[in-house]
Parts: sequence; C-alpha cells; structure tokens
Amino acid sequence: MADLTYLYDLHSHTTASDGVLSPSALIQRAVDNKVNVIAITDHDTVKGLAEAHQYIAQHNLPIHLINGVEISTFWKSTEIHIVGLNIDVQSERLQNLLMMQEHQRIERAKEIAYKLSKVSIADAYEQAQVYAKGDIVSRAHFARFLVEKGYVKDIPKAFKKYLGKSGYAYVAPKWTSIEIAIETIHEANGQSVLAHPSRYGYTLSKMKTLIGYFKEHGGDGIEVSQSRQTLDDLSSLAKCACEFGLLASQGSDFHDTVGYLDLGKTHPLPSRVTPIWHDWSLTKNC
Ligand code: AMP
Ligand code: MN
Ligand code: MN
Ligand code: MN
Repeated sequence: MADLTYLYDLHSHTTASDGVLSPSALIQRAVDNKVNVIAITDHDTVKGLAEAHQYIAQHNLPIHLINGVEISTFWKSTEIHIVGLNIDVQSERLQNLLMMQEHQRIERAKEIAYKLSKVSIADAYEQAQVYAKGDIVSRAHFARFLVEKGYVKDIPKAFKKYLGKSGYAYVAPKWTSIEIAIETIHEANGQSVLAHPSRYGYTLSKMKTLIGYFKEHGGDGIEVSQSRQTLDDLSSLAKCACEFGLLASQGSDFHDTVGYLDLGKTHPLPSRVTPIWHDWSLTKNC
C-alpha cells in the first residue's frame, strides 16, 4: 500500500518528446524536488523511459518511476490528450499505435513546414528537427525555432500566429480517437487519465460532455491538480471527478521552467477525491 505522504508527479516530459531535460536530468530534478513517485508521460512515445530507469538504478535513487505516455487524440476538432499510467511498454498494440502516431507527426510536420514556406519561412521541417532531440517532432519544436530565429517574440505568439488552430500554418492532425487510446492503454494493463480537462478552451458544460464521453468509453481518471490553474479550477475539477465517478490524478506537465510548474509543485488533491494511486503497491521504500 502506498504511503500517503508520498509526493506524486504523474505528468512530465523529457527530450524524448518536447521537454527540455534528458530523462536522466528529469529524474535528478525530481529527486532534488523531493518527488517520491514520478511518471514520465512523453507525447506519443515511451522511448525516454529506459534511460530514466537506468539512471535510477545506477545511482540507487529514492524514487519510483511510473511508466507513462501522453497519447494525442482528436475529438470534435479538438486535440485531447490521454495519459496512460503504469503501462506495459512492451505491449504490441501500444507499440503499434505509437508507431502510427509518430508517423503522423512526421507527415504533419512536413505540411506545417510547407505552409510556413508560403509565408517565407524556409526549411522549417529541418529546423524543427534540430530542436527535436528524439524521434517525436512536435509543434513545440517549431515554436522554439520560430522564437530563436526572431520570427515571433515568444512561444505563445508562435502558437497564436502560426501553429495554433487559428494560425497560418495549422494542420489538423490525424491522431487516434479517445476510445482507441483508452482501449490501448487498458490492453497494456495501464490506467487512462484525461489530461488537463480545463485546458481545451471549453465551457464547463462542454468540458462535462468530454468527461462524460471519456467515462462512457472506460476512462479511469482525470487530472484534477495540474499546471497553470486557479484554486477555483482545482475545485471544479475535483467536483467533476466525484460527479462522474472518476479517480483523480495530479501532475505538473513539466516541460521546462518557463511555461510550466516545476516538478512536484502542484496543489495537493482535495480530500474528497480518490487518488489514482489509491491501490498502487509501490515496493521500494522511498
Ligand atoms: P503537438 O503535440 O505537436 O501538437 O504540440 C503540442 C505541444 O505544444 C503541447 O504539448 C505543448 O507543449 C505545446 N503547446 C501547445 N499549445 C501551446 C501554447 N499555446 N503555448 C505554448 N505551448 C503550447
Ligand atoms: Mn508538450
Ligand atoms: Mn497535454
Ligand atoms: Mn503533457
């Protein structure tokens, strides 16, 4: 039975996707921040996990690493993220899905670059790949290139002007569906969590439609405590978790120290929710 005094951070990114820290550096930062249980949940890849496990073993670090992933899905023209926790990374179905998503990312990146070339921004595909340290090409890599080459002032502007839904170079992605993401996570023996429900730009009523859809298709939990939220938002999400009979998760969504909370710095979960980890058995004493 998990010690309830553990500090959990169940959402984070490394250079395997669009985080700025390597898996080893991320683990070291989590340990320095006194996080006892960390999930690495890179976008559509599990390729950062092996290095992170190795780093923990090599240095005998007091931390549990949860195998995770953040799967991109497309639902009613919106990109919805589903986190998988405690997944079997060898699962064939999971590996197949991630391979397809990785391929879609490359195709989308080429289309984004083509659209950018039409507004006189040359070689964006090659440039985005310079910023991508792993096999995943993300819009975040395009954004870093656009900022560093002076096309825009900062990352939010890069999304507003070029990469976001209303930007010049937006390309609708061909991500998998919410239901397939949930099924695939379950087949890999994991738990599925709806990531940052309040960050999709929905009204409360539409957010509840999404949460209801997620629950109806077998979803297990929602992120209640997350990056960039007010206490009202935390409270509203806790209420939704109770209303829909979903478990509650928490995670910083750490990518870097500029736009996100630092590892382990989310608000604690309100006592009325059931944490996603309530029945986890963590064997190491941390
Ligand atoms: P992708 O997975 O390639 O669609 O890229 C999405 C990633 O870009 C997210 O995971 C964030 O890291 C980043 N991102 C998306 N929208 C914004 C935004 N408005 N400002 C800053 N970063 C963003
Ligand atoms: Mn990201
Ligand atoms: Mn996300
Ligand atoms: Mn994330």
